[in-house]
Amino acid sequence: MASVAFIGLGNMGGPMATNLIKAGHSVTVFDLSQAACDALQEAGASVAASAAEAASGVDYVISMLPAGKHVAATFLGDDGLLALLDTSTTVLDCSTIDAATAREVGEAAAEKGIGFMDSPVSGGVAAAAAGTLAFMCGGDAATFEKAKLILADMGKNIFHAGPAGAGQVAKGCNNMLLAIHMIGTCEALEMGARNGLDPKVLSEIMLASSGRNWSLEVYNPYPGVMEAAPASNDYKPGFMVDLMVKDLGLAMEIAEQSDFDNPMGKLARQLYAAHQDAGNGQRDFSSILEKLKS
Ligand code: NAD
Repeated sequence: MASVAFIGLGNMGGPMATNLIKAGHSVTVFDLSQAACDALQEAGASVAASAAEAASGVDYVISMLPAGKHVAATFLGDDGLLALLDTSTTVLDCSTIDAATAREVGEAAAEKGIGFMDSPVSGGVAAAAAGTLAFMCGGDAATFEKAKLILADMGKNIFHAGPAGAGQVAKGCNNMLLAIHMIGTCEALEMGARNGLDPKVLSEIMLASSGRNWSLEVYNPYPGVMEAAPASNDYKPGFMVDLMVKDLGLAMEIAEQSDFDNPMGKLARQLYAAHQDAGNGQRDFSSILEKLKS
């Protein structure tokens, strides 16, 4: 069993750290929120007074933070963890952040001989609690072998996407595609409904035809078609519009930095940003159906 420092205990990090405790690892946590630390202490973690204290002498440092600036502040600079860590420690940043910051932290870690992987996840809070997340990792092969040993206790699919930053690029590609096929699925279902088709029957037809996709298969956006989907529960998230807009912003940065024009991704971002501006940020991302209906 490993010793792990877990930094960032929010909606995702809390249940991920809890799963590591359940798997028998020795987990020391740090979060700016005392309430978040208290909850993990009850679950069996030790609580540190700072990220540096948590990370001292551990096998793994895992972070699950809101954005690139938090990750940079945690790991880079004279006060950052990379300045303090031993080369035997492996750093796994599971946050969804910009690929440029992930590469920067990866390069800084490599200079110090510390293994680093950006390891963003697919799957929301429910998958974090169930330990069924998918991890998309960016870093070298030796670090990936070490990463798998611990990520396996928080998820079920672990991919090596390429060098540092590649995990974030994979995540950006995936979530851009998710936004596009969710909007496309809403558009098709609404067009059918306006022409008298029952969305349930149309869903069955498309599921057995070439329009089949993940949104249709497990996350139907039309209320009443799928009992457990957010659409049938007043679009309670699930995966919030705010997070989709964040992820699409990161995908746009990746496209710009690689001089790639992505018209469908850009349009998806515009639609989701407008939906967010209309007060839907905290609702599930499948509520984009309502924007198309209006
Ligand atoms: P959250 O806001 O619930 O949690 C973030 C936590 O980080 C908070 O508890 C906050 O106090 C803590 N924090 C912030 N700065 C810190 C610092 N410097 N040191 C220590 N703790 C600090 O966010 P979340 O929903 O858990 O998401 C975390 C990451 O996972 C984000 O990058 C998000 O995009 C990504 N993600 C979220 C979901 C989801 O469904 N919520 C799904 C996939 C990926």
